[in-house]
Amino acid sequence: MAEPLIIVGKGMAATRLVEELGQRALGRHAIAVIGAEGRLAYNRVLLSPLLAGEIAEREIELKPAAWWQARGVSTLYGRAVASIDRAARTVTLEDGLTLPYGKLVLATGSTPVKPPLPGSDLPGVVTFRDTVDVGRMRADAARGARIVVIGGGLLGLEAAYGLSKAGGQVMLLHLVDRLMERQLDAEGAALLAEAITARGIAVRLGAASTGFVGTDKVEGVALQDGTVVPADLVVVAIGVRPNADLARAAGLAVNRGVLVDDGLTTDDDSIFAIGECAEHRGSVYGLVEPAHEQARVL
Ligand SMILES: Cc1cc2nc3c(=O)[nH]c(=O)nc-3n(C[C@H](O)[C@H](O)[C@H](O)COP(=O)(O)OP(=O)(O)OC[C@H]3O[C@@H](n4cnc5c(N)ncnc54)[C@H](O)[C@@H]3O)c2cc1C
Repeated sequence: MAEPLIIVGKGMAATRLVEELGQRALGRHAIAVIGAEGRLAYNRVLLSPLLAGEIAEREIELKPAAWWQARGVSTLYGRAVASIDRAARTVTLEDGLTLPYGKLVLATGSTPVKPPLPGSDLPGVVTFRDTVDVGRMRADAARGARIVVIGGGLLGLEAAYGLSKAGGQVMLLHLVDRLMERQLDAEGAALLAEAITARGIAVRLGAASTGFVGTDKVEGVALQDGTVVPADLVVVAIGVRPNADLARAAGLAVNRGVLVDDGLTTDDDSIFAIGECAEHRGSVYGLVEPAHEQARVL
């Protein structure tokens, strides 16, 4: 009888893993993929062109429903796994459903971080990670909202570009004195800032946010120099944190991400982790290619 394999998370790593298993181990496992997002897995990288209105939502889907069915995979959408019982080898979903596993793969990705500043929980202070975020941002941009993007790395730049293209009045705030400082020298960063400004996006460098102002919803971003930048929407793009709480609560070894060995096994030999939630030899990856490589290794 096929061994029950549960994959938690229905993102890019999980999809590639199912593809790999279909080629290498067809029929060995009875696979169930459980995803918190209420839709089929999609290419998260394409959220940027989706935000900019350069592609349609149907174009981001990774595999059609028939593809999952053809591989005999049970897919559960919009349902998050709440806990793992390692002794009983079961997972329990937030809605109470309990499912047994022989092998369990954690592919839970990451969550964007917000700075621990006053007002960061105000409605209108958002992050950029999924299709729900894109829908919200596009709606605000389409009505010409004043939008502040915090973070001058790649994700912040993509958000600013997309929001501006979608009709928003965008200002990009960056903490240090040049954009993409990890990738660009001063000259390259200055050229980039020029190109961004030419697209109608205001750029403020060396801008340290101290809080978000507003009563019922965000109305602006307070800066260290005492000024307040007015905003109807604030998009925070300052980094991500691996989704490792599920593993931590189950008593698995976790540092920044879920600790795995070269075979992507956690310290429980029935449980594995791949993609952005995994930490391998001190590294947590925030890119697609390492996630695909891990799916091949597993
Ligand atoms: C806008 C944007 C642009 C990007 N551009 C690039 C790029 O150009 N190049 C690049 O290499 N990378 C890019 N990335 C990063 C890339 O998308 C990620 O590295 C990749 O998606 C990681 O795959 P993953 O499967 O580990 O995580 P994800 O794709 O995030 O999937 C994890 C899934 O697990 C679900 N989940 C979490 N917890 C639970 C739970 N308890 N129960 C059930 N489900 C759960 C989540 O809802 C999510 O659907 C970009 C990311 C974004 C947001």
